[in-house]
Amino acid sequence: MTQLKYKRILLKLSGEALSGEKGYGIDPAVLEAYSLEIKQVVQMGVQVAIVIGGGNIFRGIQGERSGMDRVQGDYMGMLATVINAMAIQSSLEQHGLYTRVMSAIKMEQVCEPYVRRRAVRHLEKGRIVIFGAGTGNPYFTTDTTASLRAIEVEADVVLKGTRVDGVYTADPFKDKTATRYTTISFQDVYEKKLNVMDLTAFTLCKENNLPIIVFDMNKSGNLIRLVEGDDIGTLITG
Ligand code: UDP
Repeated sequence: MTQLKYKRILLKLSGEALSGEKGYGIDPAVLEAYSLEIKQVVQMGVQVAIVIGGGNIFRGIQGERSGMDRVQGDYMGMLATVINAMAIQSSLEQHGLYTRVMSAIKMEQVCEPYVRRRAVRHLEKGRIVIFGAGTGNPYFTTDTTASLRAIEVEADVVLKGTRVDGVYTADPFKDKTATRYTTISFQDVYEKKLNVMDLTAFTLCKENNLPIIVFDMNKSGNLIRLVEGDDIGTLITG
């Protein structure tokens, strides 16, 4: 049996990634591709928790720009993450996987409320736990949710799936000379002002010594390689 480097992971997926080429809503092809990647690691015995963003549907800041109350917009953003969580749940279930959506805002007809001990129990039983509705509080992000939930359920690592394959010295889309870090310390990320996560999310990981790996989720096989300890993406650690 393959040696696993990470046995319990928290996978952070952005809402935007779910929209694929369309740029809005949910692209079934992306859901399908992600589900297949996740299934492979579950079958290896990895315990998987997922936090999904809502940017493909609504962001609080977007509402504020058009004159909406910020808090109202943030709650709308949190509800958007539940829609995404349900979409990914449905896709994972079609692949025969056992899942639970746990929401930070109670909506018992559609999912369980978030209770830490129950989340841990689900993970122990091999169920994929999808955390919806962010932290349940306005002014936070789903990156912060990912850090917080990962710490709470004692995940080994936060895997931040993005469109780029790691953290670069500069924006690789704008600067052709930018190079990728294979590993970097929390302190260096601060000092170099690199954009890994928002500062609240990042600080939570730093203070609790929880490693983050930024990697390209759209490349098939990457998730397996990561849990086996392959050196892909950028590892941020203490
Ligand atoms: N949000 C919030 N509190 C949270 C998590 C999310 O208010 O704890 C809201 C916020 O408005 C945010 C939106 O939900 O803009 C969607 O989440 P996010 O922008 O993090 O999604 P992503 O960028 O990952 O798609």
